[in-house]
Amino acid sequence: MGEPGAPWVLVDAGMPGFAAKIRATAEARYGVGARPAAIVLTHGHFDHTGSLADLVREWDVPIYAHHLEMPYLTGASLYPPMDPTVGGFFAFLSRFFPCDSYDSADCLQELPADGALPHMPGWEWHHTPGHTPGHVSLWRRGDRTLIAGDAFITVGLSKLTDTVTQKQELTPPPTPATPDWDSARRSVQRLASLHPFTAATGHGRPMSGPNLARDLQAFAENFPVPSHGRYIHEPARADDTGILSVPPPAPDPLAKQLALGAGLAVVAGFALTLARRRSDRKGNMEE
Ligand SMILES: [Zn+2]
Ligand SMILES: [Zn+2]
Repeated sequence: MGEPGAPWVLVDAGMPGFAAKIRATAEARYGVGARPAAIVLTHGHFDHTGSLADLVREWDVPIYAHHLEMPYLTGASLYPPMDPTVGGFFAFLSRFFPCDSYDSADCLQELPADGALPHMPGWEWHHTPGHTPGHVSLWRRGDRTLIAGDAFITVGLSKLTDTVTQKQELTPPPTPATPDWDSARRSVQRLASLHPFTAATGHGRPMSGPNLARDLQAFAENFPVPSHGRYIHEPARADDTGILSVPPPAPDPLAKQLALGAGLAVVAGFALTLARRRSDRKGNMEE
């Protein structure tokens, strides 16, 4: 964020392996050798911090995050386990996502308690937990621009076709990685009450225009919580040391099917080996 020729700030640090692309994009806008004044994290999920280590090694700048997000950025705590039972394409994929936390303790600083964003005049941060305990969204009152992180997103991730086509729609935070749905709903209601004109989110293309505030208000009033899953009726609980408790896993029919399939394959392999040994023995006796 920032105009060419003025100090600028990087918001979130993308997927792993994107440091060179982020640097090249920054240099195209701010000039060769451009370096931000700081990096601000909406939260610490791997798709928002994947290139953080490489960028900080190059830039050596402070990283700002909410104090409730610190345990996942310092390696003190892992996020709650993903919930692949919540349904949809993205939940299926979540079985393969990493759940490491990233140790960026050296450069980390807490966001100022007064809601101001360092090096971003005119911007303020709002605590929008639910997707993660220390999730924040960034707001510029002057032109009603919102950077919502993953508090809500503008692309459906449940269906492969919507994800591939990037069809624009207001969507709850990525479902398998959201362990507190009451907080997630309240956060979206809080953002809707700001009446944004433009919203950029962690997934999907930015939305802008006079209808956005009305549509976001309707979305917040009818916030679509998934019908089933591990965290729907009971949240993961956390404090500033990290995760304190998580509800037990929900039944996972696909995991059972995969386990059953693997079990049947082992039994079939065993039976085949036995049958081969028997026929070898029979062959030897007939020789
Ligand atoms: Zn996220
Ligand atoms: Zn994300």
